[in-house]
Amino acid sequence: MLDYGIRIWSDDDFKIEKGKIVVNYGKKPAIIDIVKDIRDEGYKGPLLIRFPHLIKEQIDLLFKAFKKSMKEYGYQGGFNALFPLKVNQFPNFVIPLMEMTKGIPYGLEAGSKPELIIAMAYNNPGSPIMVNGFKDKEMISLGFIAAKMGHDITLTIEGLNELETILTVAKEMGKPYPKIGLRIRLHSSGIGIWAKSGGINSKFGLTSSELIEAMNMLKNSNMLEYFTMIHFHIGSQISEISPLKKALREAGNIHAELYKMGAHNLKSIDLGGGLAVEYAQHDGLSQRHYTLEEYASDVVFLLKTIAHNKHVPDPDIYLEAGRFVAAKHAVLVAPVLELFSQEYDQRELQLKPKNPPLIDELYELYNLMNEKNAIEYLHDSLDHMESLLTLFDLGYIDLLDRSNTEILVHLIIKKAVDLLKHKKYDEILNIQNMIQEKYLLNCSFFQSLPDYWGLGQTFPVTPLDRLNEKPTRSASLWDITCDSDGEIAFDIRKPLFLHDVDINKEEYFLGFFLVGAYQEILGMQHNLFTHPTEFSVVFDDEGNYEITNLLEAQNILDILDDLDYDIKDIERKLKQYIEESDYISDDKRKDVLGRLYLYLSENAYLKTIVSYKDE
Ligand code: PLP
Repeated sequence: MLDYGIRIWSDDDFKIEKGKIVVNYGKKPAIIDIVKDIRDEGYKGPLLIRFPHLIKEQIDLLFKAFKKSMKEYGYQGGFNALFPLKVNQFPNFVIPLMEMTKGIPYGLEAGSKPELIIAMAYNNPGSPIMVNGFKDKEMISLGFIAAKMGHDITLTIEGLNELETILTVAKEMGKPYPKIGLRIRLHSSGIGIWAKSGGINSKFGLTSSELIEAMNMLKNSNMLEYFTMIHFHIGSQISEISPLKKALREAGNIHAELYKMGAHNLKSIDLGGGLAVEYAQHDGLSQRHYTLEEYASDVVFLLKTIAHNKHVPDPDIYLEAGRFVAAKHAVLVAPVLELFSQEYDQRELQLKPKNPPLIDELYELYNLMNEKNAIEYLHDSLDHMESLLTLFDLGYIDLLDRSNTEILVHLIIKKAVDLLKHKKYDEILNIQNMIQEKYLLNCSFFQSLPDYWGLGQTFPVTPLDRLNEKPTRSASLWDITCDSDGEIAFDIRKPLFLHDVDINKEEYFLGFFLVGAYQEILGMQHNLFTHPTEFSVVFDDEGNYEITNLLEAQNILDILDDLDYDIKDIERKLKQYIEESDYISDDKRKDVLGRLYLYLSENAYLKTIVSYKDE
């Protein structure tokens, strides 16, 4: 039985029990049962399921790991964490996040004006707000307004011009001022596809001479006491610990030097984000080569050592881990709409009294195939197919012959897969690579897995049930966009095998895990497929689950409204076409109009396909 690497990526948050993926919490509901409940209420199409307890779990783990290390090393500074809003700004994520972190030093990090407004409205009083990224005078003024509201806000400046603006706004708006942070430009950078935020050539941060200049500017304006923090971020998904250690050495020393130069309120270091998530689902392809405990221990130990050696106080630590906090909480469920080979059924075979000889041979291969000769016959049949397709192109065989060829080859593939199914996957991987099955999924990879499309980042994927049956088909996954990039191809280095299901008779769902960070907001509306229907699964004290915050995917008119179409004009035009059409009889006009309105009120994803009855 294949476990889809659940032991690698799930940290026991999800488990396989009785062939189903269950949420390892409360009474351990199977995700498929949750999905069926929701679908029974009419919500078809892809679903984004949020599990808020997994957000809480990650935050608790962070605090626990840092507290433990701080205790171990006698660290005198405090620990605070922030959620970088860029990772997930959706209200059904952020509002519960703030609810569950009341009373602990956990705040929000904002990188734009709308994100700052979210932070100003929802951050828990007393918890920190951090503002990073490029800022204009208006954004800086918003920071001052937040300070006047009583928020503990730090504006981290990315360049000296921002500092100049802060000094100007301070004069204009008066006290209380926000705290000031300086983003430092490190030599060190992370590694991996998201490593561009650090390093000497990075887009962000002040060089050493700019830091000295900033100190002078603050001193000259009598504002040095507001300079409380330095900040760095070496990139997201840091796969190895060594670049972080290098960055910490640099940052710890910069902190100590600036402190010694007179910045006596410089008591904090913000490490940015980057704490990695294990997305791998195959052995040997791990994407995180350290544990949280190692990460926390290295941070605390290095900062402690530098502070001690340079005789400065241990700085308070701020962490902006986003991916680590958010990725786990969301699962995308995509219904399988079709297996492409399904149409090649034996009943469709229409052999002629006299067939081209190669077709007769294919038929014989099909009938005589057994376990011993399966691979050889499969190779032969693929060769025959090539020849037959060439004969068709040259005009020697007709369309019926071509159809019989396709059906027979697919029947042979299925028979071979069946005969070889007890073999180990690696023994027949090359064959599997040649005879993939295409699974059509009711979702958009552009919308729901944009990092796959843009960066090749894979996410763990598993069927939600049948996990006690060996999957036999090497699978490539296709989404419903009209774009050939909407495909997750079968990859022999990290193969995906799925079950050979007859979608006309039974449902089959795939779950994509760890999609709670970045994917929702980066997702694009290619073909106008929008954010899928979402809901949260929350557990009561008895361990029963409840579905909350259900939000259906936008309907067609809303989607067009968002694009600034005049939807009243669209409705009027469509109605007029129906009323004036010569192709609709008068007694049918009302019926056609009714259908049209119904479809306009539904979302863009597919409801029915081919002969599937229940969709
Ligand atoms: N902080 C800053 C300044 C960032 O730019 C980012 C993202 O790149 C983060 C935090 C979050 O990083 P991650 O999600 O990898 O923890």
